Amino acid sequence: MPDVFTPAQRSDLMSRIRSHGNRDTELALIRVFRAHRLTGWRRRQPLFGKPDFIFRAARLAVFVDGCFWHGCPQHCRMPQGNRAFWRQKIGRNRERDRLVSRTLRRQGWRVLRIWEHALARKREKSLVNRLHRALRLPEKIF
Ligand SMILES: [Zn+2]
Repeated sequence: MPDVFTPAQRSDLMSRIRSHGNRDTELALIRVFRAHRLTGWRRRQPLFGKPDFIFRAARLAVFVDGCFWHGCPQHCRMPQGNRAFWRQKIGRNRERDRLVSRTLRRQGWRVLRIWEHALARKREKSLVNRLHRALRLPEKIF
């Protein structure tokens, strides 16, 4: 069956799916929180920019940014077709990310953005230490 959507419509649909959070990356981060006894987080609280998690007591908002959609310098590869479109699309996502971070900071939140690639098991120790620093907890000795 042919795709009934134009590339622009398709991308819009995909971005709307994304705006509700990426389940796999959220679950991966929850696993890290649980494995390392990081408590006090809540999901999907109604804050500007819809952080993936917040730690209310620490006034910390956490976002997990997908490497493709948020333009990770190491892993975002533009699709072959329609490059200008994709470049613009991802550029807008990055602008939006900056606006969201800035707005939350003005509202008194600290903002931690975690790349999807930082969720790899081999990077877990450094991720946990970033979380500890952001939460003002002592460095974790592994
Ligand atoms: Zn990446």
